[in-house]
Amino acid sequence: MTYIIAEPCIGVLDRGCVDVCPVDCIYEGPDQLYIHPDECVDCGACEPECR
Ligand code: SF4
Repeated sequence: MTYIIAEPCIGVLDRGCVDVCPVDCIYEGPDQLYIHPDECVDCGACEPECR
């Protein structure tokens, strides 16, 4: 697992990263988004979206 939803994204439910994820491994939690570590293929598509 290379990419995780980190502190800067807590409280941010922009969902921009969800839309670009090719394997739909980003899930919405109560206060932030979570990337499923087993489903993430480390493509990096979500990284520039989380800004
Ligand atoms: Fe999804 Fe790719 Fe981001 Fe992993 S790195 S969460 S597969 S967009």
